[in-house]
Amino acid sequence: SDAELEAGRRAYELDRKHVFHSWSAQATLKPMTVTKAEGSYVWDGEGTRLLDFSSQMVNTNIGHQHPKVVAAIVEQAQKLCTIAPSHVNDARSEAARLIAERTPGELNKVFFTNGGAEAVENAVRMARLHTGRRKVLSRYRSYHGGTDTAVNITGDPRRWANDYGDAGVVHFFGPFLYRSRFYAQTQEQECERALAHLNEVIAMEGPGQIAAIILESVPGTAGIMVPPPGYLQGVREICDRYGIMYIADEVMAGFGRTGKWFAVEHSDGVIPDLITFAKGVNSGYVPLGGVAISPHIAATFDNRPYPGGLTYSGHPLATAAAVATINTMAEEGIVENAARLGTEIMGPGLAEIAQRHPSVGEVRGVGMFWAIELVKDQATREPLAPYGGTSDAMNAVIGECKKLGLLPFANYNRIHAVPPLNITDEQAREGLAILDQALEVADRSL
Ligand code: PLP
Repeated sequence: SDAELEAGRRAYELDRKHVFHSWSAQATLKPMTVTKAEGSYVWDGEGTRLLDFSSQMVNTNIGHQHPKVVAAIVEQAQKLCTIAPSHVNDARSEAARLIAERTPGELNKVFFTNGGAEAVENAVRMARLHTGRRKVLSRYRSYHGGTDTAVNITGDPRRWANDYGDAGVVHFFGPFLYRSRFYAQTQEQECERALAHLNEVIAMEGPGQIAAIILESVPGTAGIMVPPPGYLQGVREICDRYGIMYIADEVMAGFGRTGKWFAVEHSDGVIPDLITFAKGVNSGYVPLGGVAISPHIAATFDNRPYPGGLTYSGHPLATAAAVATINTMAEEGIVENAARLGTEIMGPGLAEIAQRHPSVGEVRGVGMFWAIELVKDQATREPLAPYGGTSDAMNAVIGECKKLGLLPFANYNRIHAVPPLNITDEQAREGLAILDQALEVADRSL
């Protein structure tokens, strides 16, 4: 309506005047206004409907405005909006139970935070206090959050300006066959060599100094590199050998994104010492994250206070949203749906797209977690935008997607296809058809 459009214009004006945005040079920003969202769609400031293939920041796993989750938030707001973290609250207790029920192994205690970065901060703090060691190992091509420790753990250009070299973090290379650091031709070679490399880094850094290895179970923003079979098992063995805590960062990959509740479940028998989660736990309807804790680490703080806390740890509105989200995902078979859509529609559809377009170097993923890697040349694999940067060609593809009614998730030379997990088959096919068409713009730029 005209009133909605006018409200959107006013919001934009005030935004440019007063809102300071993340990760951006403020003067050049042209943010998109969103006036409305429902299911797999959002509406922009001009009233144009866009199919949301981004799930925003890959968090609306249950889609926008799911009525059961909205109702649970309203109900909780009427009952009890907020309570100090030291008190017991039924929404928090039940959310913790539902999460503990789904984590692998016996990670049965949950520390709640407001988001993913705080989850990473606290997981690392727990690992350091439990082991009495300080160093943390993480991979290049990773994202773990924007706060000080989390951004230093991050293996992405966003770390650079925040890196003063005193965070006690060492980076290593993880498996990524398409851009293999290890001259590997096969997934088996990539796996074996990446594990040998990790072992060597540990030997050089001093195994007795290392508190934790933190890994996204499937690195997300950095490119959706599904680990080769055996890699995470190998990491678990290395951690066991040296008394290093294994932190699985499931902030983006968790809660159904890969077609299982946690992505680490794709690796048989691997039980992390700590799991960080956020985003999909309640689809981001109210900010929430947390750490699932194994019994041996929890026991460290049985008789010794845990030195950490947050005013909103386990906030009633956020945890009530988590209870409704998890229950609804279970009732509606949303995790199974993500696995089915991945195998039946997204995987085959993207494979066809890869065959048709000279600008597509590789498509890869699992469940509803897919990356399209765009290149200038399939033989040299030179990316269509440099690492950490952008290019006219990439911007043109993203612009074309939006023009055709699709909101993609983009990072450097990649487009990610990461829609809500309960998108309909028809909408998923429609999104792929738009990507197919938009990629012609990339082909023409070669
Ligand atoms: N860890 C991973 C794997 C993420 O993808 C993100 C966010 O994208 C974070 C941590 C940080 O989460 P937040 O932005 O909620 O602090």
